[in-house]
Amino acid sequence: MTASSPIFAVDAASLDRAATILLAGEVCAFPTETVYGLGADATCEAAVLRIYALKGRPRHNPLIVHVPDVASAQQISTSWPAIADRLAQRFWPGPLSMVLPRAACIPALVSAGLPTVAIRVPAHPVALELLRVSGRPLAAPSANRSESVSPTTAEHVLRSLPNVPMILDGGPCRLGIESTVIDLTQTPPRLLRPGALPLRALLEEIPDLQLPGWVKEA
Ligand code: AMP
Ligand code: MG
Repeated sequence: MTASSPIFAVDAASLDRAATILLAGEVCAFPTETVYGLGADATCEAAVLRIYALKGRPRHNPLIVHVPDVASAQQISTSWPAIADRLAQRFWPGPLSMVLPRAACIPALVSAGLPTVAIRVPAHPVALELLRVSGRPLAAPSANRSESVSPTTAEHVLRSLPNVPMILDGGPCRLGIESTVIDLTQTPPRLLRPGALPLRALLEEIPDLQLPGWVKEA
């Protein structure tokens, strides 16, 4: 890549640079096992606004917050039911986002005004390292213009978001499908979005999982 390209190979220096950008309230694209995410400090409203602006994402579409471990997940939610522990133990790091009550450190803008927050631990060494180096939970929808195809390579990201300040290049994403989203704020839990985590595996843990009609019939 040329000197002016925002695409960086992953090493200690580029991870530091990415963390500096994030801590300054800017956005940075990074690989996860599902798709490339456009990350911003989830505790900083101005940074989260940059995600919506750069993607052209409508403000009513909530973001998923990425954290490195269960302890960090517990810091951004106000309750952590036993089922969250079981699911985290079996499926994290991995493509499962859990919706839980949102802690005050996460601005309402992250969740499009909802009192909840979707949280996951991604199964990608670069994403996990960036989370550790930045020390912040990262709100990260797919790193593309709203309504276009989710990117699975750094080049896809650049094509869709030519003004992105930085892209960490971790090679092609393994799964290429968004995370499965479940709501744990109700009993029994409810499937909100089918995704990369097979429904069969989820049903083994939550046999009474509420499914939307269009999933049941599929
Ligand atoms: P993505 O576009 O892959 O970043 O995923 C975001 C999607 O996750 C949203 O469009 C919702 O379907 C779901 N989601 C995120 N946060 C919440 C939340 N707090 N409550 C319900 N669904 C959520
Ligand atoms: Mg997307």
